[in-house]
This record gives sequence, C-alpha cells and structure tokens, in this order.
Amino acid sequence: MKLMEPFTIQHLVIVGVGLIGGSVGLALKRAGAVGRVTGVGRSRENLMTAEARGIVDDWTHDLKAAVADADVVLLAVPMAAYDALLREMADALPADAVVTDAGSTKQSAIAAAQRWLPDARRFVAAHPIAGTEQSGAAAAFAELFDDHLAIVTPDSVSDPAAVARVEALWQAVGSRVIRMAADEHDRLLAAVSHLPHLAAFALVNAVRKQADAARDPFDFAAGGFRDFTRIASSSPEMWRDIALCNREALAAQIDAMQAELAGMKTALLAGDGAQLFEDFSAAKAARDAWLQRR
Ligand code: NAD
Repeated sequence: MKLMEPFTIQHLVIVGVGLIGGSVGLALKRAGAVGRVTGVGRSRENLMTAEARGIVDDWTHDLKAAVADADVVLLAVPMAAYDALLREMADALPADAVVTDAGSTKQSAIAAAQRWLPDARRFVAAHPIAGTEQSGAAAAFAELFDDHLAIVTPDSVSDPAAVARVEALWQAVGSRVIRMAADEHDRLLAAVSHLPHLAAFALVNAVRKQADAARDPFDFAAGGFRDFTRIASSSPEMWRDIALCNREALAAQIDAMQAELAGMKTALLAGDGAQLFEDFSAAKAARDAWLQRR
C-alpha cells in the first residue's frame, strides 16, 4: 500500500511509553510525520528517560489533560490497563480524535473501546508484529517496525477515515500494513506468539524445579537453551495479560502442542525412530521454508 499524500499527526499522545510506544514515537519523528508527542505513563523515571531520548516532547501523568487536544492517541500499555485508561480518557477526547493501540490481543481491545468510548468507530485496533524481550523507553528504537507486519483489525462499523489514518500511522513507522478480522488475528497469534511464550516460560520452570544443592541444570545449558528461552525474559505482567485476554485460543494451542508432545513421547517409549525422524523432519522442513520466505 502506498501513501497517497504526506501523512502528519499534529499532536500524538502515547499512553505507555515503553518499548512499543517509545519506538512508535521515534519512528514517527524519523519519518517527519508528527508535530508534538506527549507521553502519559505511570513511572516518572521512564517518562524522563523518554524525554531525554527525544521520544516525547513533553509528558504528564494527567491522561485527560493530555488527550484534550490530541488528534491521535496510541495505547501501548499491557492489556489489563485498557479498561481504566479508555474509561478515563472517554470524556476528554476531542470528537474527531482517532484512537489506536499496539496490544497483542485484538478482540479484547475492541471490546474495551466499545465499553468506554463514546464513539468506538474511531478506535481502530492494531498490532505491530515486531518486538523484543526488553521493556521500557530505554529499550525503544526507531527501526523496530521496519519491514515488519502491522495487523490492523477494523470491523464493519469502523470509521473509514479513522482506518485510513491508523493505517497511515503504521506505514509511517516503517511497517507493512495488512487488514484482518480481530478473531482471526487472535487465533493466529495464539499459535505463533502466545503459545511460544508460554512454552518458554514452562520450559524454564521445568528446568528450574530440577535444581538441587548439588547441581544447577542451568550451569550446563548452552546456545539451544538460550535461543529457545529468550522470550522467557519478557515482561511477566504483559504476558499474564495477553494470556488472560486470549485464553480460549491459547488453551486450544496448548492442547495442540500437548498432542504433539504426547505423540513424540509414545514414539520415544516405543523406540519408534522412524516416527521421530518423520516428526523432526516435517518440523525442520516447515521452519526452513518459513525462514526462506522471510
Ligand atoms: P513495556 O513494558 O515496554 O511498556 C509498557 C508501558 O506502559 C510501560 O512504560 C508502563 O509503565 C506503561 N503502563 C503500564 N500500565 C500503565 C497504566 N495503567 N497507565 C499508563 N501507563 C502504563 O511494554 P511493551 O513491550 O511496549 O508493550 C506494550 C503493548 O504492546 C502491550 O499491550 C503488548 O502486548 C504490545 N506488544 C508488545 C510487543 C513486544 O514484543 N514487547 C510486540 C507487539 C505488541
């Protein structure tokens, strides 16, 4: 999708200036696509870091005051914070302001907007498919979204002008925008993002519980363990919220993985090397093909 005309936001309010919110601020400034950026958050120290790094021009803890003359508001906070923040900003939002978000689950984001905003047609949910296991404004960088997908999930009642504006924002930060239904987004992301995080947390805990006075298994872990478990260093708060907001789709993916593991366990105990070879080969082929496509 090509931008038809220069895209500019006069006053962007970023609620939650962490890795994602901070990177959006830096990327929009890099693109020359934003006038003033105001940060809103919980931690004074993090907001001061954001200001020192040039992510925001100013910051406040006062959400209502911040959004009062915003043309675009970006929510980049853990999913459990949505209800309180949308409720608080609802009365103060200008009628023509557009609200978007970066949250990892989309049906819950849209439901929260519908619960609290006077005109939820101007809330257009989005999810940048880019990130790291780091948190906070100190971890933000302008290139985070370059050539990564941003999934935008409008529905039949979304205001077309708001959708165009939100898609232009995610393009301006460097991402490739695609549209998808929110329920399809949540099903797909449960498989390729939410389950891997749970699996990484589960593996680290399984190993952690085997430590005893004589031996710590982590002392013998090498590159494979490090690669597999990198995302277990992610924010527990953020991942608790994502798991709870997408619980049914995630539970279905846990079942799918348990079925795979159960099949491998059966083959293992039966000494069925052919079956194991087939399972491992199919997985290797699928992953290699995915890497090739990227
Ligand atoms: P982060 O922890 O780096 O930043 C979140 C920020 O929100 C923090 O500065 C925190 O202080 C602030 N915050 C939390 N509760 C708040 C509240 N009630 N009011 C105001 N500020 C509050 O997290 P992040 O990685 O930037 O994630 C932000 C959102 O983006 C989450 O919804 C997450 O699901 C989503 N997301 C994350 C990634 C990733 O890889 N990290 C990728 C795509 C989407």
